[in-house]
Amino acid sequence: MFGFVGLRDKAANLTYMTDRRFMPFSYLADELKDLEAAGLRRHRRMLESPQGARIVVDGREYLSFCSNDYLGLASHPALIEAAQSAAVRYGVGAGASHLVSGHSVLHHELEAALAALTGLPSALLFSTGYMANLGIVTALAGRDDEIFADKLNHASLNDAVMLSRAKFTRYPHFDLAALEKRLAASRAKRKLVVTDAVFSMDGDIAPVPELLALCERHDALLVLDDAHGFGVLGRAGRGILEHFSLPLTPHPSRILYMATLGKAAGVFGAFVAGSAELTDYLLQRARPYIFTTATPPLLSAALVASLKLIEGETWRRERLRELIAALKQGLKLQRWRLMDSTTPIQPVIIGSNQETLAVSEALRERGIWVPAIRPPTVPKGEARLRISLSAAHTVEDVKWLAQVLNELETT
Ligand code: PMP
Repeated sequence: MFGFVGLRDKAANLTYMTDRRFMPFSYLADELKDLEAAGLRRHRRMLESPQGARIVVDGREYLSFCSNDYLGLASHPALIEAAQSAAVRYGVGAGASHLVSGHSVLHHELEAALAALTGLPSALLFSTGYMANLGIVTALAGRDDEIFADKLNHASLNDAVMLSRAKFTRYPHFDLAALEKRLAASRAKRKLVVTDAVFSMDGDIAPVPELLALCERHDALLVLDDAHGFGVLGRAGRGILEHFSLPLTPHPSRILYMATLGKAAGVFGAFVAGSAELTDYLLQRARPYIFTTATPPLLSAALVASLKLIEGETWRRERLRELIAALKQGLKLQRWRLMDSTTPIQPVIIGSNQETLAVSEALRERGIWVPAIRPPTVPKGEARLRISLSAAHTVEDVKWLAQVLNELETT
C-alpha cells in the first residue's frame, strides 16, 4: 500500500518536473543559462575581513582595488569607537521611520555636521543613495515635467526618473549642445537636469559650471549626484561644488546637491543638502524618506567622526593624487586603454566580456582583486576593469598592479 503511494508520488513528481505547466518559473533557468553563455552571470564572493588595501576572501589575502572606500575610512579606529559607544548608549536599531519616532539626536547632529561641511544651509539624511535619488526626483518632478539625464547616469537616477512619470530625455555623455537643444525644445512645466558629478564607471567629472549656465538659461533645476566626489574632490573634501569653486549663495540656488556616505565617508547612507525649504519639502514629500526605517543611530555617530577626518586629514586626498599619478606612469598599455580620469576611479577598457573576466581572474590568481565591469552596468563592447584607489594604498601597491597588468596584456 505504502509502496504503491510512493510510486504514484514519484510519477507525479516526474510529471511535475517535465510538464511546463507545472514549471511557471522555468524561464528563469533559461535566462540564467543565457547570462552564463554571454559572460554576464554574476556571482558574489564572501569577504572575511574589513575593507582595506588588503582583504581576505576564501581564506586568501588579496591586494584590493575593488571598493569605494576611497579615503580608507571604512575600518578606521575612530569610526569604530564612535559606533561602539553609540551602540552602548543608544542601542542598535532606530525602531521607526524618522517621522514617527526613529529620528535620533545622532541623526540630527550628523545633518548639522553635513550642512557645516558642505557649506549649505541645511542637510537631510536618507537611508541609501538609491533611495535618496528616488526620493529627490519623484518629489520634484511628475507627469507634466521633463527630466534631462546624461546617458551614463547611475541606475538609481534612471530608475528615479521612470518612477516619477516625467518625460525622460537622455543626452549623450557630456554633450552640452545636445542638451541645450533639448532644453530649448521642451514645453514642460518644470525642467530638471540630473547628472552624476563623478561618473561611477568612468571616473570623469561632469562640466558642472556649464551645466549650471544651461540650467539658468532654460530655467531648469540641476540635480547633482556626488556619490563619488564627496570626500574626494576639493581641498577639504567638500566635493564637486568645492572642486569648481561654485558659490554656495545666494539661496535658493538652482543646484540640488546629493551625496552618499557609504563610499569615501566609509559608512552608509546618503544626504541632500541645500536651502532649508528644499530639505523641509523633501521631508514632507520624498516617499523613500517617509516610508522607511531610519538607519541605526550608531552609523550617524561613526559618520560624525568620519566627517572630522574627511575635513582635517587632507593627506588622504594628497595620497590619492600620488597614487593616480603612479598608476598612469606605470601602465604601458597597447591594446587596452586607461580612461582619462583624474579621480580614484581608474577604469581600464578591455572591450569583450570574456577577456575582461579572464584578466580579472588572472589578476586574482596573482593576489590582486580588480572587478570586471560588464553590461548592463557599462555599454556593450566597453567591458572594463574598474580600478579604484584608496588612501589606504601605498605607491608600491599601485606600481605592482601596473606591472602585473602590463605583463598580462602581453601574454
Ligand atoms: N549614485 C551613484 C552615482 C552611485 O555610484 C551609487 C552607488 N554605487 C548610488 C547613487 C547609490 O548609493 P547607495 O549605495 O548608497 O545606495
